[in-house]
Amino acid sequence: MDGIPVRRVFRRLLWMALERLARSFDDDELRRSAMVFAPHPDDETLGCGGAILQKRRAGAVVRIAFLTDGSSSHLQLASRDELRAIRAREALRAAKVLGVEEEDVFMLGFPDAALGSHREAAVARVGELLRRHRPEQLFVPYARGEHQDHVSTNHIVHEAVARAGLPVTVLEYAVWAWRHWPMVGFGRTRLQQRSVLAGTVSTRLGLRMVREFRTKVPIQDVVGQKRAALALHASQMERRNAEPRWRTLQDVDGGDFLPCFFEDYELYRRIDVAAR
Ligand SMILES: [Zn+2]
Repeated sequence: MDGIPVRRVFRRLLWMALERLARSFDDDELRRSAMVFAPHPDDETLGCGGAILQKRRAGAVVRIAFLTDGSSSHLQLASRDELRAIRAREALRAAKVLGVEEEDVFMLGFPDAALGSHREAAVARVGELLRRHRPEQLFVPYARGEHQDHVSTNHIVHEAVARAGLPVTVLEYAVWAWRHWPMVGFGRTRLQQRSVLAGTVSTRLGLRMVREFRTKVPIQDVVGQKRAALALHASQMERRNAEPRWRTLQDVDGGDFLPCFFEDYELYRRIDVAAR
């Protein structure tokens, strides 16, 4: 099933279907103000770094809100306090490369891996940001086949939008939902096989994404900057102190995962919310 040439052919076909069926952002959409909601530092770059760069180029105001502090990414190897400080620093530096200055970055500081237990407080904080800045577009994680904090972020932002009653375009981006065959291989470990199988079922071999992800932003001319921004999330991209147990994004699915974020387009599921 996981013969590499077969998977490559299916992967290419799936990307072609995704890209062909999606409609590109026009200039007006690129210029609209936006707020990006990232569950963890690095999700903003992985999921929508290219769109942030293109929008900043077009002169749009883009703000980024990080819901959690990213403090449990490598808990067996570093303390929460240490990880929190490292990830906040990396997030600000990466945002700068994406064209977003520190005053437009908001660290909501909820604990990594436990956002769901702070739902009411998070809905209130997101609501305040929406009312104060009135962004025309919101970038939020997709809710299927995603990490628990990503699902929580999706629900929290949608709830805050509903309560605020403001008109807005929501653009959902996938991160972990790309972990499905044929985007990535089934791999060797039981754990990886189980995750990829679950992703493959929840995306129905990616076909659900073909149906839902119908908006695209071309990123070919900013992909170098997107890579540079991701590299600044060094705790997620390099082994700290050459520690072999320090897992990085490059290790995920034997290296199959990261290329999903560096294709010619970023793809989004678009939901237009009318004013109430
Ligand atoms: Zn994340």
